Amino acid sequence: MAGMSMAEPMIVGVELGGTKCIATLAQGRTILRQQRWPTGTADTLTLISDTIALWERETCLAAIGVASFGPLHLNPHASHFGHMGNTPKPGWAGVDIYGHFASRFAMPIAIDTDVAGAALAEGMWGAAQGCAVHAYATIGTGVGLGLVVNGQAVHGHLHPEAGHMRVRRQPGDMFAGVCPSHGDCLEGLVGGPALAARSPIAAADMTDDDPLWQTVAADLAEWTTMLILALSPQRLVLGGGVIQARPMLLPLIARQSADLLNRYIADLDYGALEQLIVAPGLGADAGPLGAISLGQRAAALP
Ligand code: ADP
Ligand code: ZN
Repeated sequence: MAGMSMAEPMIVGVELGGTKCIATLAQGRTILRQQRWPTGTADTLTLISDTIALWERETCLAAIGVASFGPLHLNPHASHFGHMGNTPKPGWAGVDIYGHFASRFAMPIAIDTDVAGAALAEGMWGAAQGCAVHAYATIGTGVGLGLVVNGQAVHGHLHPEAGHMRVRRQPGDMFAGVCPSHGDCLEGLVGGPALAARSPIAAADMTDDDPLWQTVAADLAEWTTMLILALSPQRLVLGGGVIQARPMLLPLIARQSADLLNRYIADLDYGALEQLIVAPGLGADAGPLGAISLGQRAAALP
């Protein structure tokens, strides 16, 4: 109904990323305010909540959604719910993210992974609308995957950590990988620190025809092929700083995924895979609106 959006609640979204944190004030999917910080130690949380406190003085906030890098403890019945897990990121392991916001703000607060939030937002407003099974991957400082089934982000023992899967290596690629836990898992091969270690040129300064992008596309295609076989997604949205800056990777990934699948799933030819593996419909707002979508869900709870 026209005019309905006037009644929509004011939601705060907090996206905690590997290199930057973004706080967003939104009504529906309309962003009203936004502020960003480089990700420091967990003290960054105080800067963020100070800003939310300012917004709280100006307007009636309904809920906060926190979409964070992980691993995160998300079992609502566990005492460490909402705590950061065993991240190698200095100063963040074990930090009580949920508790930080819950102790400062008397309103519903939801927390999930950054990629689960972005997946939900892409399902609601972006490239995965109408899909029962869809996923959002970030290829940025880290590599992560959020999986949505029938409108719910999948949590099980923990949550998907598919960026740490090992992929079949490219012939002749001897790079050892930089993941502190696994060496040459996918994140250890194509995440920000891996790109920095693989090339003397900063990722942002490489040309699109640098041969490193061929390797990155090939590694990602091994992964998307496994994801398609394991999860049967109707849409696989690839976002994050690397893909955002290098959209020419998407057709390379679709082409190589088609070659690897080899028409085993008969209708998934190159053309179909170009429709299945796509950039975020929400563009760079997928992360911030992901946090907003988590907050909206918290506000809607009884
Ligand atoms: P975060 O992981 O903190 O959420 P991003 O998703 O924006 O952040 O990813 C940041 C990463 O994107 C950097 O580590 C870098 O490797 C990569 N990146 C940034 N700019 C470019 C660029 N122009 N081309 C390729 N990669 C880039
Ligand atoms: Zn790893």
